[in-house]
Amino acid sequence: MELLYELLEYNKKFVETKEYENYIVEKSPKKKMVLVSCMDTRLTEMSFKSLGLKSGDIKHIQNAGAVISHPYGSTIRSILVAVYMLGVDEVVIMGHHDCGFGALQPEPMLEEMKSRGIKDETLNTLRHAGIDIDNWLKGFNSVEESVTEGVNTVKTHPLLTKDVPVHGLVINPDNGKVDLIVDGYKN
Ligand SMILES: [Zn+2]
Repeated sequence: MELLYELLEYNKKFVETKEYENYIVEKSPKKKMVLVSCMDTRLTEMSFKSLGLKSGDIKHIQNAGAVISHPYGSTIRSILVAVYMLGVDEVVIMGHHDCGFGALQPEPMLEEMKSRGIKDETLNTLRHAGIDIDNWLKGFNSVEESVTEGVNTVKTHPLLTKDVPVHGLVINPDNGKVDLIVDGYKN
């Protein structure tokens, strides 16, 4: 069976047997925090367990690299929604070691796109339109620097008040050890 149908098949039983009752939590986060972390599969549970967090505790945003790539992109917007509409008081940006996005170089990804049928012409049209796809598809050299940059982008955002602490962390996906990069209470 194809993956999606397999999931939907499972879902029927999930609802019928009322398994969902095990997972119902409050809409507002118990701990008033929003966490931005990477979409790395190794962190799906690890990011929560390593910090003693449970479902319902916090708002959680995941993207490739836990990067805040644009001050008016959807990640910042989600942070602002969490703060102004969902009762969040603190922001945590948590990158991780051995990040696949961090290691990303534009060339191999563009080559992969081309091998699947994306035309050079399309890439050039985007470049001419001022979209810097090469830079957009580039990871980072240092996860600590990337996290610090993300913290600064959020902290200095004109639509976020200065009383919201913005912290920066880096997690090791192999053992769950979390290092403090930016202490938002002090900075
Ligand atoms: Zn990652």
